[in-house]
Amino acid sequence: MKFYIKTYGCQMNLRDSDSAAALLIEHGFAPADGEADADLVILNTCSVRDQAERKAIGKLGFLGKLKRERPWMIFGIMGCMAQSRGAELLKRIRHLDFAIGTDQIHRIPQVIDEVEEFRMKKACLEAGSATEHGIDSHRFDGAESPHSAFVSIMRGCSRYCSYCIVPFVRGPERSRPMDSILAECRTLAAHGVPEIFLLGQNVSAYGLDNTAPPPDDAPSPFGELLKGIAAIDGVRRIRFTSPHPAYFTQALIDAFTQTDKVCKYVHLPLQSGSDRVLKLMNRPYDTAKYLSITDRLRERAPWMSFSTDVIVGFPTETEADFQATRELMDRVGFDNAFIFKYSPRKGTRSAQNARRRPAGGQGGTQPDPAGRPRTPRRRRESETRRTDVRTPRRGPQQTQLRALERPHRHVQAGRLHARSGQSRRKRRLRACEDRARHPHDPVRRTRPRGEMS
Ligand code: SF4
Repeated sequence: MKFYIKTYGCQMNLRDSDSAAALLIEHGFAPADGEADADLVILNTCSVRDQAERKAIGKLGFLGKLKRERPWMIFGIMGCMAQSRGAELLKRIRHLDFAIGTDQIHRIPQVIDEVEEFRMKKACLEAGSATEHGIDSHRFDGAESPHSAFVSIMRGCSRYCSYCIVPFVRGPERSRPMDSILAECRTLAAHGVPEIFLLGQNVSAYGLDNTAPPPDDAPSPFGELLKGIAAIDGVRRIRFTSPHPAYFTQALIDAFTQTDKVCKYVHLPLQSGSDRVLKLMNRPYDTAKYLSITDRLRERAPWMSFSTDVIVGFPTETEADFQATRELMDRVGFDNAFIFKYSPRKGTRSAQNARRRPAGGQGGTQPDPAGRPRTPRRRRESETRRTDVRTPRRGPQQTQLRALERPHRHVQAGRLHARSGQSRRKRRLRACEDRARHPHDPVRRTRPRGEMS
């Protein structure tokens, strides 16, 4: 039987897909080139944003067509959306055969056997059982990169940031034993993989499962893990994502900056540059703590590179909060930033609070204290999903918040067009008229505005 896994979401999901593929191959399945070529299709889903869920559900709908053409095919979902909505989706989507929760990846081969044999739907969504089996499986058949390998060092998260669904779908923090991680890294190094990329929802809390953020002078088990991996022959580079600022202690800064094999790049999620909003987000640090980490890291390694995550439009965020975020981003001089519009996730504290808030704001957004309403420019900024803020020379003045400074722009045929408020029909009409009037102008013979190939 040939299988194909389509992955949505973060590196943790990519790693889980690789583990699942390795397990399937171990049980006699063969990888397919695509879904049309496969007998078994699994979607590894993400729940962090509403849009990611919609994409996966849309894809499931499309796969129904394949099932009508090839009725023997088996379809399943795994990952965060399977954990949170698996039972509901199994009832709703006729051609969906199974749903595997985030803690049950090791049971995939057995579930598929049961679905195949009994032709029945199967939900396997228990949380917190023995999940470690299989998460250290890798494929050395060329399907995974020969240059870099993901290694999961912990699962789950216990931080409960008020906007985040992850603790509900991936369970509490569970760090893997250090010996098991080191053994996995040794195996990878023995296969000639030079770079180890450590993964976890909150890697800086490795070994401190379910505890409050430590004081700044506390020891760092994650720092010890970095040193242990650096001591393995054959490992040449170490990277990791994502640390939590509240767990970034001085001991971790020391281990990080003193270990040569650790790349001098940190993805340090900021989320907001306003202390008031950080508190509402249940992020247990303030902007002063964040800046003290970036300053201390840069002091030790001036070439240090930073990237971050930011949420725009969090309930009650004001213009002043938003400007504070921009100022802090200028101050740090990030090389890259992933900027997301706030997406309410059912069951999270911020989504519940926003629902309880009296009507009058957008999704619980309060007016600016200065009385300024949300402007169209601000709405456009909120819609920014990802922006490149690479800095040619680092420093407060150099950060270019491109997507925040400009309206949406699309480059077509060498020209820049700001997206207008016209309907697609009007744009098409205008483009047709243009083409009729200028039949020999190659630029005007391109697609109408707003229609990207
Ligand atoms: S640290 Fe916060 S944002 Fe990150 S996974 Fe945990 S709850 Fe979600």
